[in-house]
Amino acid sequence: MTGALSQAGSGILVIEDNDINMDLMIYILNAMGHSVIPALNGPAGLAIARAQRPALILCDIQMPELDGLGVLRALKGDRSTRDIPIVAITSQAMVGDREKLMGAGFDGYLSKPIEFDDLRLEVEKHLTK
Ligand code: MN
Repeated sequence: MTGALSQAGSGILVIEDNDINMDLMIYILNAMGHSVIPALNGPAGLAIARAQRPALILCDIQMPELDGLGVLRALKGDRSTRDIPIVAITSQAMVGDREKLMGAGFDGYLSKPIEFDDLRLEVEKHLTK
C-alpha cells in the first residue's frame, strides 16, 4: 500500500491531438499493463488532470488552442497537480529541444516517432520512484 501514499491517482493521462500517435501510445502503454486516459486537446487534458490526478502525464507539445507548454504551466502552477510528472512528447527533433523543455519544467522528454523501448523506459522511470 506504500504506493498509494505517493500516487494519489492511477493511470496515465495522454494528451495528444494526433489520432495515430494517440493510438500507438495507448497500444504500448496497455501492453505494459497501464490504463490510459486519453485527451485529444490541452483543455480536455487539464480538466482530466485536475479531476483524476493521474500518476503520470504524457503531453504532446504542438497542439492548437493550448499547447504543451501551456498545459505544463497550468499544471505546475497549481498546488493540486504540480507533483504529477509530465513528460513532453515532441516532433521538434532539433538540437537544444531537450534542454529547452527540461528547463521549462518538464520531468522528461520523448521525441517522435515514439519507440516502444524509449516510452517504456521513460514511463518506468517516473512510476517506480
Ligand atoms: Mn500535435
